[in-house]
Amino acid sequence: MGDSAPIPLCRSQPCGILEHMNGVRVKRFDRTQICIDVTIKTLYRTPEGQHETRRTRLRTKNAIHLDNAGSRTILRFMTQPVAQRRPNGRFRELFSASGVVAEIQPITRRMRRIRLEGDEVARLGSVPGQHVRVHVADMLDPRNWLRPRDMLRTYSIWRHDQGIELCVLDHGGDSPGVRWARELTVGQGVSFGRPEGSFVLRDGAHHLFAGDETAAVAFGAMLRSLAPDAAAYGVIEVDEPEDRLPLDRELQWSYRHGKPAAASTALVGELSRLELPEEPGVAYLAGEARTIQMLRAHLVSDRGWPRQAIRTKPFWTPGKRGMD
Ligand SMILES: Cc1cc2nc3c(=O)[nH]c(=O)nc-3n(C[C@H](O)[C@H](O)[C@H](O)COP(=O)(O)OP(=O)(O)OC[C@H]3O[C@@H](n4cnc5c(N)ncnc54)[C@H](O)[C@@H]3O)c2cc1C
Repeated sequence: MGDSAPIPLCRSQPCGILEHMNGVRVKRFDRTQICIDVTIKTLYRTPEGQHETRRTRLRTKNAIHLDNAGSRTILRFMTQPVAQRRPNGRFRELFSASGVVAEIQPITRRMRRIRLEGDEVARLGSVPGQHVRVHVADMLDPRNWLRPRDMLRTYSIWRHDQGIELCVLDHGGDSPGVRWARELTVGQGVSFGRPEGSFVLRDGAHHLFAGDETAAVAFGAMLRSLAPDAAAYGVIEVDEPEDRLPLDRELQWSYRHGKPAAASTALVGELSRLELPEEPGVAYLAGEARTIQMLRAHLVSDRGWPRQAIRTKPFWTPGKRGMD
């Protein structure tokens, strides 16, 4: 693998190296101190066109002591440049980003399209299929530190031009992600981690997409960037026809009509009836965790696909708060 200096990210051409700050987690805290973990995932595209991911974990050696300006210190830690140890031992700076809500529109019956704009947003790069981790709670409010699992939610990037667009499903609960999206207003500031993730297009004889409406957001971005002659197949399960996202390719839709999205045997059935080429391609499975397992089991056991040809990304599952 080449170890050249990072090149600027570009959405329309292959990139040499992509670097992302992956997660900032509060590990331990009491009234006066706090420990922070940062995981950095680096996605490389090798000269041969393969993708490889490496993880680097940085942990604050000692607890950071909070004083009167403590909360500001933490915010700086999370939003200002942090040192990243690169594989070759050198350090470089990474940033999280912030933007302003420029537009909120319903894009399906239960999904809002949220457009973020701003100087920092315009400078970001991403690869279709990647996501951002949005700060859905006020990071400066110490009361929120008591529930660190409720501070971040992950959303796929639906579109990335001068702005970033997210599509957030209102699943009907009263949890941090849906609350954030429901209460958001135009003009409001939003901070989030840089685009990240390795759930992106791979080389293959053809491309197969399967998942639920949350997965359709990432699929939409990936389909938009597929070469015109690349073959794409897939099935997406939504509740009603009004829940279909507009996609650039014709995939099959399946409807739950009120049945639960979790562990969907109906979606597995639809996938098993889908006509696919003999030769396996690359499969992208996303959405509810148990459904993904079942979809993968079908491809491996019934269709004889090699496991490494199947990319999976669980987005949510009943009873679990925040999946990433
Ligand atoms: C890589 C990645 C990309 C994602 N991209 C998107 C995206 O583009 N759009 C999007 O809307 N979400 C996406 N998600 C899911 C998103 O991060 C949140 O999990 C989701 O918005 C729910 O957050 P919450 O705080 O409302 O609920 P959580 O606190 O996460 O969950 C609380 C409970 O709500 C229920 N629940 C959560 N999600 C659903 C659902 N979809 N249907 C039914 N019940 C549900 C479950 O019972 C869960 O236990 C993605 C997740 C990951 C990991």
